[in-house]
Amino acid sequence: MIAYDDLATRREMVATCRRMNESGINQGTAGNLSIRNPAGFLITPTSLPYDQMQPEDLVQMSFDGTYEGARRPSSEWRFHRDILESRRDVDVILHCHSLYATTLAVHHKEIPSFHYMTAVAGGTTIRCARYATFGTQGLSDAAIEALKDRLACLLGQHGQISLGRTLSGALGLAIEVETLSRMYVQALTLGEPPILPEDEMQRVIQQMKNMSYGQAPDLDGVNDVARPKIAAAS
Ligand SMILES: [Zn+2]
Repeated sequence: MIAYDDLATRREMVATCRRMNESGINQGTAGNLSIRNPAGFLITPTSLPYDQMQPEDLVQMSFDGTYEGARRPSSEWRFHRDILESRRDVDVILHCHSLYATTLAVHHKEIPSFHYMTAVAGGTTIRCARYATFGTQGLSDAAIEALKDRLACLLGQHGQISLGRTLSGALGLAIEVETLSRMYVQALTLGEPPILPEDEMQRVIQQMKNMSYGQAPDLDGVNDVARPKIAAAS
């Protein structure tokens, strides 16, 4: 196991947040990001624009909900905590209100297998969680349900969540979910597109695993508690 380097991890988180801005998936201060570490997890602070954020602004939280440092954690810390606790196959949670994913989410539409890349989140659909007030246990529960056997979901009338083993993995998946959402919204302007059959999507999922494509290999370890807990800074 690689020794945990707190400063290196904080710097990589700041860099990932800036890449969220550059890629266009973040709206204002709506996004938030967390990563598992030996003391619990690090999470972005509330109401601090990413271009002003420094490594010391990240908040160290414990799984009991307490935190250290001068800044308060993101108002969405609860679903970060609950997903990290229930999903030992991932170490990073990324949340944002990216435009096209949220466009589908305001209509409570899931992303179907209209394009084979829907499988990048691990299944034949990317589900949309039912609506619940931000920051509540209800939202946390809805998100965990929608993320079952998946690495991403939409949040009804809210945004999206993408998971990963690494910061770059979670960011890449969030951008992919946004791209798929944009394609689907545009495809819908010509009518509801045809859906790839279940057996074809299963072949795609298997092919992605074989090729270590995108995030799909992560699913091999779903609910695998034997895997080392701590994310190596990558
Ligand atoms: Zn949000």
